[in-house]
Order: sequence, then C-alpha cells, then structure tokens
Amino acid sequence: MADLEKIGEVVSTDVLIIGGGVGGLAAAIRAKEEYPDIDVLMVEKQTIGWAGKATKIGGVLAFLASGGDADKFIDFQVRNAGFYINDQDSLEKYVGSTYRALEHLSEWGATIAKTPEGKFVAIENSFAPGYSMTFIDIDMMQPMSKRAKTLGVKMQNKIHIIELLQKNDKVNGAVGFDIVDGRFFIFKAKATIIANGSCGYKVRRFWSAGTGDGIAAAYRAGAEMRNAEYGNLYGHVVMRNLDGGMAGNMFLVNAQGENLAQKYMPDMGPAGIFLPVKLGVGLETEVAEGRGPIYFQPPTGGPGRPGGGGGFGQSLPKIGKWNQLIQGKAEKYGPQPPSREIAVPLHGELSCIRVDADMKTTLEGLWAIGDTSYAGSAVAGAVASPPGVTPGSGIMFAVISGEWGGIDAARYAATTSESDVDTAEVALKKEGVFAPMNTDSKYSPWEAISSLQDVVAPMKYSLRRSKERLEEALSKVASVKERLPELHAKDTHYLSKCHEVISMTACAEMTFTSALAREESRGFHYREDHPEQDNKNWLKWVILKQDGDRMNVSTESIPIEKYSVKPS
Ligand SMILES: Cc1cc2nc3c(=O)[nH]c(=O)nc-3n(C[C@H](O)[C@H](O)[C@H](O)COP(=O)(O)OP(=O)(O)OC[C@H]3O[C@@H](n4cnc5c(N)ncnc54)[C@H](O)[C@@H]3O)c2cc1C
Repeated sequence: MADLEKIGEVVSTDVLIIGGGVGGLAAAIRAKEEYPDIDVLMVEKQTIGWAGKATKIGGVLAFLASGGDADKFIDFQVRNAGFYINDQDSLEKYVGSTYRALEHLSEWGATIAKTPEGKFVAIENSFAPGYSMTFIDIDMMQPMSKRAKTLGVKMQNKIHIIELLQKNDKVNGAVGFDIVDGRFFIFKAKATIIANGSCGYKVRRFWSAGTGDGIAAAYRAGAEMRNAEYGNLYGHVVMRNLDGGMAGNMFLVNAQGENLAQKYMPDMGPAGIFLPVKLGVGLETEVAEGRGPIYFQPPTGGPGRPGGGGGFGQSLPKIGKWNQLIQGKAEKYGPQPPSREIAVPLHGELSCIRVDADMKTTLEGLWAIGDTSYAGSAVAGAVASPPGVTPGSGIMFAVISGEWGGIDAARYAATTSESDVDTAEVALKKEGVFAPMNTDSKYSPWEAISSLQDVVAPMKYSLRRSKERLEEALSKVASVKERLPELHAKDTHYLSKCHEVISMTACAEMTFTSALAREESRGFHYREDHPEQDNKNWLKWVILKQDGDRMNVSTESIPIEKYSVKPS
C-alpha cells in the first residue's frame, strides 16, 4: 500500500460506479437502498446532477402500462426492430420492469407527466403496439443526486477514468485523473460498474458526453463486445446549420419537389422519427445524382405550418407544452418558412459491452449499464441503441439496467473479500495516462477528432456499407490510430480530450470490424453487397475480443429455438 500511495491518491470502496448520468445514479440509489451497509462511490468526468445525456432534454419514456400487452410488444419489437437478434429473455425482463421504473423515478423526485387524477399519462400504442408513452422533465438528475447523497453515496466530480485495474482475473477498480488539477487517482473496488455512456464521436453537441471511454477500457481489459455493428445512428433529420428543429421524414423533398419518403419507403415502417436506413440511402442517392439539396416541406395545414397542429419542424417544446398538447390544449406555433434545407447528422450510439441479464460483463467483478451496454445486452436487437426503434427507451434502459447492475454488484461486493491491485500495473498505467503531456509533438486532439469524424460520419461508411468501403474505413481508422502516440496535451483538459479520441478510435474500429464480419443486411446494418436478411446463416451475434494487438472476431448462434418469437 505504501508504494501505491507514492504513485497516486488511493481511494477504497465496495462498489465503484464510473459515470454519474441517470444510469449511474439509478445504480447507486438501488445498490444503497438494498444494501445500506456497503460503500458506494460515484466518479464523474463532469458534475453529478448536471452531467450526462438525460439533462439535455429529458424527453419521452416508453413503458408497458398496467394492463398493457407484453407479448404483443415483444412480438412487434423482435420482428420489426430487433429482426430476431434480440436476447428475448432479457427483453422480456426489461419490458416487465418498465412500469416499476417510472414509479422509482417518480419516488426519487423526477417530474413525470400525470393526469389530473395523478396517474402517469399513457399515450397508447404511440411508437409500438402494446406500449405507452409518457414524458419526463429535464431536471430529473437534481432530485436523484440528492436522493443518492441522502442514502450515503459518495461522489467525486471532474475525474476522468482511463483504465480498469485487474488482478487474478478479476477487475478491482480503476485509475484516472482529476481534470482540474491533474492529481492521479487509484480507485480500489470489490465491484466496478461502468456507467459512462455510449460513443457518439462528438459529431453532435447534445450527444458529446458519449466518447466510449468505458467501452474502450472494458475492451482493453479483455471484456467481450456484442452487436458493435449497430452503433451507426443517424437520428432525426435536422434543419441545416441549426442542429435542432426536427424535420419529419414524411415531408422530405428533393430540389424538384419530389417526396422522398414516398419514393424510397412507401411503407415507412416502425422507424418513426428516426431516419430509416432505406430513406437515408435514398437521400444520399438523390444528392449524388444531382437532385439535392433536400428540403423539409410540410404541406399547408400540416404539422409545423400555419393552421397545423404543431409538431416536428420547430425546436422541441418544453414539457409543460407537451402536457398542454396531451390535454387537448394544443397551441399553434409560429409560421414556418415554406421549405428549409435539412442536414442528416450522425449521432452514433455505440453501446456494445456484452452483458448478461444482471448487466454482468464477461469479466469477473465488472458490470456495465445504460448507454455502455444497451446493444451489448441484445435487448434492442438489430438497431443502434438507444433509442432502439422505440424512442423513450434510453432513460428507461439506463434506469432499469442501473437497478439490475447496481443490486447485483452490491450483492457481490457484500460477499467478496478485499480488492487487491498490482502496484507495477498501476505505475505502468499512470505512465500511459500522462503520456500525451510528455510528447514534443504539436498533434492536437482536436485534429485527431476531426480526422476520425471524417471516417465515421459519412453515410457511405456508416450506413451504406460494403466490403470495399468498410475496408477503406478501417484503413482510415488505422491511420488515425497510428498517430495517436503523437497526441500532445498542453494541459489536463487537453489530456482529457486526448483520451477521448483514443477511446473513440477504438470504438470506430469495433463498429467497422463488426460490420465487415456480418455479411448480410439486418435492421440498421445495411450491406449494399449483401442486401438481403439471411436467417439461414446469420441468426448470430458478432463477438469482439482483444487478443494481444488484434481484434478477435467470432460469431455465436442465437438460441432462437428456445425463444417464443421466431422468423416465420
Ligand atoms: C438530445 C437527447 C435527447 C434524448 N431524448 C431521449 C428521450 O426522449 N427519451 C429517452 O428515453 N432517452 C433520450 N435520450 C437518451 C438518454 O438521455 C440516454 O440514453 C441516457 O441518459 C443514458 O444514461 P447513461 O447514464 O447510461 O449515460 P450518460 O447520460 O451518457 O452518462 C454517462 C456519464 O459518464 C460520464 N463519463 C463519460 N466518460 C467518463 C469517464 N471516462 N470518466 C468518468 N465519467 C465519465 C459522462 O460525463 C456522463 O455524465 C436522449 C439523449 C439526448 C442526448
């Protein structure tokens, strides 16, 4: 221990939660509620209560209302969104937990839309048959953070976690540094929960908290990844130069005024407000063939136009306005210009850490929850997740998986002996953490981020895939990777950015490698050279695992025979 303290500040806990978003807070609260005697410590790169994605908008919550039909929803989800690669056992467990999650959020002080009688607002069959939707206010994190503190959860802010610690085939905590003053921290833990979000490559501002740090750290520690090919989300179409103001897919037209939803997707299907693959590929074709730019042009009297009922086409209304809309007090928003040019930004949602139904990873002592493992849990199936194809599942999955993982990790910590770390390993990791502060190079992390975005963002690599283009993308990622040792950090803030781009580069390699392996099209994975869904050969999960310097790719058959929903 004495030697360890010379390397950095040592903090010991029973359960370490990396990431203070809504998932991390739910895990901490449920762990303490069930096991009050264990120590729970949360570490967060930003500030708990303000950090994470749920603070960006709050939003919609999808749930199974009491009396709702779980079988109907699962059947719909597996056939239309998961395309049979869901883990149907975990999906069933998840669906059955949604109503209770709303009750938890409400008990913890979050504002959820309620009827005058005090029941949760439930807009039935909104995005999926059998499922309901309600709304949650943006400030849920403040009361949750207060609740966690009241229960005795400890919190440390401005800590950027870089690596996990391992000894005797068990994860025993993590190391990181204080972004403000550069102190190096060694967190020893009996159980560690990764709760630090997905990878969105910083392409869109609201999603920029997700830089895949936890995914990359788990991968480097030897954890398996699953469904990494599903990290390629082009969310909703936005107004050009605004990155806001959602445009409804059904009102997109080319420069000649031709409606593109009708042209490419007469049956828009379940993708709702998110960009369906066929339409995305169609938009790219229109521009490539000289019929761009693409405009949002709702019909007179349609949503967002004078005389229309509000809706997409302007920035999202606040929850109070949603409530008014729900209760039949719909307001008319200001007139919109007749047509506005749109853009289609990638917001990416790589969430591929493989977990079981208790959110346990394939490594002893390590759990992964929320946006780190939504796709890896196989709850959502063949779609980037969140949101899956049911908007309103991001917060819900974070809260529910936080509960599962938090309680399981606490139970484990309560029965496990002291964690042990290897001093030599810690010293080596410290050297790696601060390496970018010791280079003479001028290579800035922003330059590296920009080079990486040039590979992950274009549709020709991320959405419209082929063997040739995926190999090209991988070789571009390799070029970014080759220059990572040159990264220079002029201060600890830049050091944080350096580690973010290191994580994001690993994530990009995972997505493209996995996409190259899946030689078929399924859900949001579209291969131009294998355009059909191949249920004969590809009812499989693609699994990635580090093997020395190599990324080992394997496949695993989905146990479809034991599931209730099967391809017809
Ligand atoms: C604009 C927007 C709209 C959305 N709308 C909806 C909606 O309507 N309904 C819905 O259900 N979901 C919605 N979502 C998704 C939802 O908010 C997320 O799925 C959910 O908040 C994820 O929670 P999380 O705790 O798993 O991850 P996050 O909220 O991403 O939290 C992860 C935390 O980890 C921290 N962190 C990252 N790296 C490190 C590190 N190395 N060390 C320490 N800390 C680190 C981050 O700062 C962050 O605070 C939306 C998201 C956005 C951005």
